[in-house]
Amino acid sequence: MSRRPLRIGLSARIAHPVPGATDIRSKSLHYLEQSVAHWVMSREVMVLMIPSVSGDGIVHRSSIRLSDYPQYLDGLVLQGGADISPQTYGEEPLKAEWAGDRLRDNYEMELLHEFMEAGKPVLGICRGHQLINVALGGTLYQDIASQYETPAIHVHPDYDHYAHPIVWEDDSGLAKLYPGQTGGNIVSIHHQAIRALGRGLRVEARSADDGVIEAIRLEGRPFVLGLQWHPEFHPPGNPALLDCTPILDQFLTAARGRRW
Ligand code: MN
Repeated sequence: MSRRPLRIGLSARIAHPVPGATDIRSKSLHYLEQSVAHWVMSREVMVLMIPSVSGDGIVHRSSIRLSDYPQYLDGLVLQGGADISPQTYGEEPLKAEWAGDRLRDNYEMELLHEFMEAGKPVLGICRGHQLINVALGGTLYQDIASQYETPAIHVHPDYDHYAHPIVWEDDSGLAKLYPGQTGGNIVSIHHQAIRALGRGLRVEARSADDGVIEAIRLEGRPFVLGLQWHPEFHPPGNPALLDCTPILDQFLTAARGRRW
């Protein structure tokens, strides 16, 4: 029996209007980064970006709501991007450049809750991993280098060419998914990290060098997994980096189980 392809929603990265701009940058831009869409599409999955309906637009929330999307889609990927605003977890930014993006936090938290409520799977990447933790009541280090004891390097001028090792937690879902493997090398681009763990979450992996939390999973249902790293920047077939296709397949299997 042939069934329709999976439909996976991707949260939008948001570029807010630039003061003084007189071109397209004077507008609110919603965009996706190609690698993350292509990574999900590598399994013959349709990917659709979900625009925010908050902010200064002309959409009336009563006509199209974020809660309508889980009815149409089989799963959600929360993209990476700007910092989480410390205000979203009850703190003031310690530096102006760490103020993050509160508008995007609110939009993605609403999306996350609507997909969870509908029992549909969610995969959070980098910022998305942190967003899941904060949405469930957890907190973050605003800056690993200045707030974490004995920090290793998690962000580097080499950008997506920088990687560091992680190790699975004993008995974690990732340990079961990679039998005979204790962890791997992952592309790391973040200066925030999980501090207090949110409700119902368990740690799945940590940085091998300093113990920073690198993956989390919601216990029980629905499937909610957060990865502090960037699987979409792992070139296929590169033996120096963790093969993340088992993780993608696990997420898509959960999505298939919820397809109507
Ligand atoms: Mn890292």
